[in-house]
Amino acid sequence: MKLKTDTLIGFIVVHLLAALVLVPWFFSWTGVALFAAGIYVFGVLGINVGFHRLLTHRSFACPLWLEHTLALLGACCLQFSPPFWVAVHRRHHHHADDELDPHSPVKSFLWSHFGWLLVRPPDMKPAVMIDRYARDLLRDPFYVKLEARKNWMKVTVASWLLFYAAGLLARLIAGDSVIEAHQFGASLFIWGGPARTVFVWHTTWAVNSVSHIWGYRTFNTPDDSRNNFIVAFLAGGEGWHNNHHADPNSARHGHKWWEFDLSWITIRLLMLLGLATKVSLPSPGLAETFNRATPTR
Ligand SMILES: [Zn+2]
Ligand SMILES: [Zn+2]
Repeated sequence: MKLKTDTLIGFIVVHLLAALVLVPWFFSWTGVALFAAGIYVFGVLGINVGFHRLLTHRSFACPLWLEHTLALLGACCLQFSPPFWVAVHRRHHHHADDELDPHSPVKSFLWSHFGWLLVRPPDMKPAVMIDRYARDLLRDPFYVKLEARKNWMKVTVASWLLFYAAGLLARLIAGDSVIEAHQFGASLFIWGGPARTVFVWHTTWAVNSVSHIWGYRTFNTPDDSRNNFIVAFLAGGEGWHNNHHADPNSARHGHKWWEFDLSWITIRLLMLLGLATKVSLPSPGLAETFNRATPTR
């Protein structure tokens, strides 16, 4: 199968840029704060709440302006456009761990983590996938526009440059030298852009790889999904993946009180603010459905 060299080069470049956090010249506490805030804003709000729980599974409803905002934040994670991300993930649920699963670790750990992103068989082409699994999103011109001409990538790069410009301007206004201002801008760019993106990449990918190999199974689902507390902690609740495969429509992935689910807490907050409605909760009969008598742990 032909290697997607453009994707491979993109991965290498973004990882190399992220590695610049190890160079002291690029360090600033504001950069670190932007990195941490970005994991929540782009990763949790954008990918988990927006792309995954809202657009893919429609586990809650919200005003269109909020849906579009969440989708835009998700698009800034360089994980495909909303329609293609949704299509890939819906296919994963339809074929979890069988031969049509886009990223099952049955093939290998590295394949499920990112190897699958480096090839594009004909049945995984965006047009084919979106037509089959995410036609509903194409009814909204906003998503059509984001998908067209890889505009989602342009939005991401623009947001990174905005960090640079904001840092540069702030320091120039404060009266710092031009070199100091560029250094601060570069710090915000590296920490808030590539470094944060690489972190969110690997935590999202770990849901596909780690959470289908290691962890406990509360429900005997027909796939290999697991509840993995490390992935759940790092990926804002997405690591309660066995719970999620048992009940994909539920907005809440952490079922037990100690299964900490930051994305669910966020949706709860949106409910309190009156911004999230029609919220799906775990089905009461799940344990019986999956014959929970002998969970493997
Ligand atoms: Zn899965
Ligand atoms: Zn899902």
